[in-house]
Amino acid sequence: MSDSKGSQHPENIRRFQAGEVIFRAGDPGHCAYLIQAGRVRIQTPDDHKPVAFLGRGELLGDMAILDDSPRLLTAVADTDCTLMVIQRNQFLSRLKQADPVIRTLVEVLLNRLRKQVQPEIAVAGSGFLQGESTGLHALEGLEKIQMEADLLQALEADGIEMAFQPLVNLKTHQVAGFEALCRWHHDSLGAISPGEFIALAEETDLIVPLGIRIFKKACAFLRQLDEAFSEQAAFFMSINVSPRQLAEPDFIQKIRQITRDNALSPRRIKLEITETLMMDYHQARQLLQPLHAMGFTLSLDDFGTGYSGLQHLIELDFKTLKIDQGFVASMFENERSLALINIITDMAANMDIEVVAEGIEDQQQKKVLQALGVDYGQGYLFSPPLSAEAALDYVRRTQAGVKK
Ligand code: C2E
Ligand code: CA
Ligand code: CA
Repeated sequence: MSDSKGSQHPENIRRFQAGEVIFRAGDPGHCAYLIQAGRVRIQTPDDHKPVAFLGRGELLGDMAILDDSPRLLTAVADTDCTLMVIQRNQFLSRLKQADPVIRTLVEVLLNRLRKQVQPEIAVAGSGFLQGESTGLHALEGLEKIQMEADLLQALEADGIEMAFQPLVNLKTHQVAGFEALCRWHHDSLGAISPGEFIALAEETDLIVPLGIRIFKKACAFLRQLDEAFSEQAAFFMSINVSPRQLAEPDFIQKIRQITRDNALSPRRIKLEITETLMMDYHQARQLLQPLHAMGFTLSLDDFGTGYSGLQHLIELDFKTLKIDQGFVASMFENERSLALINIITDMAANMDIEVVAEGIEDQQQKKVLQALGVDYGQGYLFSPPLSAEAALDYVRRTQAGVKK
């Protein structure tokens, strides 16, 4: 078999002498080659007519690693050559990890290319993931493309709605603020959780315009609260911000403008940033410092799930941290969860950082968290996320209740 000829060297390097055949048309194509030195001639199988000459840095026999079909042309070492072997599975394992959209596109493009070169193979279907549920991957990819298009349309048609979940001061039992959470009511699929579509929006950069839209709506609702309850202490609004938004050069200017347009002090806007951003501390510092300088309040979301040491909390000017709901959910079953909450509240008190516990679902959890010094509570015990109207009602009802 021509593919295995050439002097063998350890690892994946093969050398061929001038005139030696590297592979012949019809050979099974289980690998590609990267030319490290020398020149390779590609020629037709029958009349040996040169089709191309390839040199250092160029790929050879690459179609074979995409689908398992035989070599179409013959490759001969035009001069002495050194080639690096790329095995099919090196490529396939990467492709399997790739985004389904990319997988689908590669498959479609490959089939189109095959059709041009050798129609009978393409008709049979190239299927480089054959035996590994090609159809499913393709479907995933196409579904995702469809969802992205739907999401873009929803954004353009202003179809992304807001829900507001109260955050309750655990000392006074009064509503202190809200977290803005977005909702997408898909025409045929119904309500889709932000857990699903925010990730999609982040992958496609739709998060940037979507995030601005959310920010505007959240600020408008805070204004509405101010107008309805002018005599009371100002509420705060927590708004989730994903790392992709922070990296957008004009993000800060835009949110400052929106805050001004609504005559709000930036201090009342708590930007919730998940702990995963802190994986790269220096980058986090660069992104967060200007927000702090402009007066926005920084809140570290999902605390305890990521990588940040408590030291970073002070250095990065976080004013609030939110204990991840996973710890609250398991605080009575898992001693470590309770111990961790205890440590967090102790340290936060010393650092003058406010603590929010999210996912509070029952009285017992609330009582223990209160006793540990947690400042604010959020969760179904108090209220699920509400429409703007229902949130205004909630404040009316609960504030009246508190006064009694
Ligand atoms: P998160 O920031 O951790 O938000 C809290 C999530 O917990 C919300 O889910 C909320 O509805 C849910 N939750 C509230 N109370 C309870 C409770 O008592 N028990 C339980 N089991 N869950 C409770 P939701 O609205 O589905 O949001 C999921 C995630 O999506 C959010 O997690 C946040 O990371 C992201 N997200 C939501 N809205 C936005 C947004 O406007 N922008 C960005 N970038 N991300 C958002
Ligand atoms: Ca949040
Ligand atoms: Ca959270």
